Amino acid sequence: MRLVFLGPPGAGKGTQARDLAREWNIPQVATGDMLRAAMASASPLGREAKQYYDRGELVPDDVILRMIKARLSESDAGRGFIMDGFPRNLAQAEALGRLVKDLGHTLDAVVYFDVSEPELLRRLTGRRVCRQCGATYHLVFAPPTRPGVCDRCGGELYQRDDDREETVKHRLDVYARQTAPLLDHYRGQGLLVTVKGEGAIDTIREAIRSVVEARRR
Ligand code: ADP
Ligand code: ADP
Ligand code: ZN
Repeated sequence: MRLVFLGPPGAGKGTQARDLAREWNIPQVATGDMLRAAMASASPLGREAKQYYDRGELVPDDVILRMIKARLSESDAGRGFIMDGFPRNLAQAEALGRLVKDLGHTLDAVVYFDVSEPELLRRLTGRRVCRQCGATYHLVFAPPTRPGVCDRCGGELYQRDDDREETVKHRLDVYARQTAPLLDHYRGQGLLVTVKGEGAIDTIREAIRSVVEARRR
């Protein structure tokens, strides 16, 4: 199963991809998580990415594509993947198309998460992330059992620097200009399926399961 989860920052891609990837036994390929790991270890790639990341700009395509190529060449990606946060512009989408084709495969579906802007703002400003395992919480909508502590691993929860309100607005703008054109791109390829990204997390997960299953039949 080869899927792309597409949608604005805060749409719930990571929340859903994490659970469904586990359920389907395929990797969640989250470029944002990979960048945060690279920045935390201060690797050359992390240092290169940081200046863009901190401003809420897209990290240059060559950096992202190097990461994606390396990830797709790992053995678990042979079973399939959920792309979460990639591609984010047309050049990346075209590069992904070529990579998948060269491996002798095709994408099964691109799942678009439809969420209104006020809801995105509420979600992003209340988002908290586990420093240790990357699990995502929300102060109000998906709180951990103990404040500040990850339910899954006991790690410390923190607010991402780029989830402050000024940066969030800019990221939504970057999404509208650079990423939203992918909707037409994938619609044109007959790959786009839309799910309503608002409502209970479990209900949305079920909606994704059913659109994906329907496409595979
Ligand atoms: P994305 O990966 O698309 O940026 P996340 O999965 O990180 O989005 O979700 C953004 C925030 O919204 C997180 O704080 C998460 O806990 C919360 N969230 C995710 N899904 C829902 C939902 N269906 N309803 C309310 N809040 C949600
Ligand atoms: P969100 O789901 O909230 O948008 P991500 O964790 O996916 O956040 O991305 C955070 C930041 O990482 C982006 O604002 C951007 O700077 C960088 N980034 C992640 N994925 C990509 C990508 N595919 N191309 C360019 N930059 C990326
Ligand atoms: Zn954790």
